[in-house]
Amino acid sequence: MGSYAKAIMTGFICRLCSEQKKKVIHLYSGKARKLALMEKIKLLPITIDKYDNLPKTVCEQCIERLEIQYNLVLKIKKSNAIQRSHRLFHSNGRCPVECPLHGIHDPNWAGLDSDEL
Ligand SMILES: [Zn+2]
Ligand SMILES: [Zn+2]
Repeated sequence: MGSYAKAIMTGFICRLCSEQKKKVIHLYSGKARKLALMEKIKLLPITIDKYDNLPKTVCEQCIERLEIQYNLVLKIKKSNAIQRSHRLFHSNGRCPVECPLHGIHDPNWAGLDSDEL
Protein backbone atom coordinates (compact mmCIF):
# COMPACT_ATOMS: atom_id res chain seq x y z
CA MET A 1 0.00 0.00 0.00
CA GLY A 2 2.99 2.24 0.47
CA SER A 3 3.85 2.00 -3.20
CA TYR A 4 0.90 4.10 -4.32
CA ALA A 5 1.86 7.00 -2.10
CA LYS A 6 5.43 6.59 -3.25
CA ALA A 7 4.41 6.83 -6.90
CA ILE A 8 2.64 10.11 -6.28
CA MET A 9 5.60 11.49 -4.40
CA THR A 10 8.11 10.91 -7.20
CA GLY A 11 7.50 14.37 -8.51
CA PHE A 12 5.38 17.44 -8.86
CA ILE A 13 4.04 19.00 -11.99
CA CYS A 14 5.65 22.32 -12.70
CA ARG A 15 3.07 25.01 -13.33
CA LEU A 16 5.20 26.69 -15.95
CA CYS A 17 6.59 23.82 -18.04
CA SER A 18 4.15 21.02 -17.12
CA GLU A 19 7.01 18.62 -16.56
CA GLN A 20 7.18 16.34 -13.59
CA LYS A 21 10.08 17.40 -11.43
CA LYS A 22 11.45 16.28 -8.12
CA LYS A 23 12.87 19.61 -7.13
CA VAL A 24 10.16 22.19 -7.06
CA ILE A 25 9.19 25.18 -5.00
CA HIS A 26 5.65 25.69 -3.88
CA LEU A 27 4.39 29.09 -4.97
CA TYR A 28 2.96 29.93 -1.59
CA SER A 29 5.87 28.71 0.49
CA GLY A 30 8.26 30.86 2.44
CA LYS A 31 11.01 30.04 0.00
CA ALA A 32 8.93 31.29 -2.91
CA ARG A 33 8.26 34.48 -1.00
CA LYS A 34 11.96 34.92 -0.39
CA LEU A 35 12.63 34.54 -4.11
CA ALA A 36 9.73 36.90 -4.90
CA LEU A 37 8.47 34.22 -7.28
CA MET A 38 4.99 35.65 -7.57
CA GLU A 39 6.38 39.05 -8.49
CA LYS A 40 8.35 37.44 -11.29
CA ILE A 41 5.44 35.33 -12.47
CA LYS A 42 3.34 38.48 -12.74
CA LEU A 43 5.44 39.40 -15.75
CA LEU A 44 4.21 36.32 -17.59
CA PRO A 45 1.07 36.22 -19.70
CA ILE A 46 -0.61 33.87 -17.25
CA THR A 47 -2.53 34.36 -14.06
CA ILE A 48 -2.16 32.17 -11.04
CA ASP A 49 -4.85 32.08 -8.49
CA LYS A 50 -4.45 30.31 -5.20
CA TYR A 51 -7.74 28.50 -5.78
CA ASP A 52 -7.54 27.72 -9.49
CA ASN A 53 -7.00 23.99 -8.91
CA LEU A 54 -3.86 23.99 -11.03
CA PRO A 55 -0.34 23.05 -9.96
CA LYS A 56 1.20 25.43 -7.44
CA THR A 57 4.72 24.18 -7.85
CA VAL A 58 7.46 25.51 -10.10
CA CYS A 59 10.62 23.62 -11.00
CA GLU A 60 14.15 24.87 -10.51
CA GLN A 61 14.85 25.30 -14.21
CA CYS A 62 11.80 27.48 -14.65
CA ILE A 63 12.79 29.55 -11.64
CA GLU A 64 16.20 30.06 -13.17
CA ARG A 65 14.70 31.18 -16.47
CA LEU A 66 12.23 33.35 -14.65
CA GLU A 67 15.09 35.02 -12.80
CA ILE A 68 16.86 35.84 -16.06
CA GLN A 69 13.67 37.15 -17.62
CA TYR A 70 12.89 39.23 -14.56
CA ASN A 71 16.33 40.82 -14.58
CA LEU A 72 15.98 41.55 -18.26
CA VAL A 73 12.63 43.24 -17.73
CA LEU A 74 14.05 45.29 -14.84
CA LYS A 75 16.97 46.34 -16.98
CA ILE A 76 14.71 47.37 -19.85
CA LYS A 77 12.43 49.30 -17.50
CA LYS A 78 15.35 51.09 -15.92
CA SER A 79 16.88 51.88 -19.26
CA ASN A 80 13.55 53.18 -20.54
CA ALA A 81 13.23 55.44 -17.51
CA ILE A 82 16.75 56.80 -18.04
CA GLN A 83 16.08 57.51 -21.70
CA ARG A 84 12.83 59.23 -20.89
CA SER A 85 14.40 61.36 -18.19
CA HIS A 86 17.18 62.20 -20.64
CA ARG A 87 14.50 63.56 -22.98
CA LEU A 88 12.65 65.35 -20.22
CA PHE A 89 15.67 66.63 -18.37
CA HIS A 90 16.50 69.27 -20.90
CA SER A 91 14.92 70.62 -24.01
CA ASN A 92 17.60 73.10 -25.01
CA GLY A 93 19.78 70.57 -26.80
CA ARG A 94 22.25 70.18 -23.96
CA CYS A 95 22.77 67.15 -21.82
CA PRO A 96 23.62 68.45 -18.36
CA VAL A 97 26.05 66.64 -16.10
CA GLU A 98 23.13 65.68 -13.85
CA CYS A 99 21.54 63.75 -16.71
CA PRO A 100 22.04 59.97 -16.49
CA LEU A 101 22.92 59.90 -20.18
CA HIS A 102 25.36 62.78 -20.03
CA GLY A 103 28.30 62.20 -22.32
CA ILE A 104 26.61 59.48 -24.34
CA HIS A 105 26.23 60.23 -28.03
CA ASP A 106 22.61 60.32 -29.10
CA PRO A 107 22.41 60.45 -32.89
CA ASN A 108 18.64 61.01 -32.77
CA TRP A 109 19.14 64.19 -30.91
CA ALA A 110 18.98 67.05 -33.32
CA GLY A 111 20.51 70.35 -32.31
CA LEU A 112 23.50 68.99 -30.48
CA ASP A 113 26.94 69.93 -31.76
CA SER A 114 28.89 66.76 -32.42
CA ASP A 115 32.15 68.38 -31.33
CA GLU A 116 30.66 68.97 -27.91
CA LEU A 117 30.68 65.26 -27.25
ZN1 LIG B 1 9.23 23.99 -14.96
ZN1 LIG C 1 20.60 63.86 -21.21
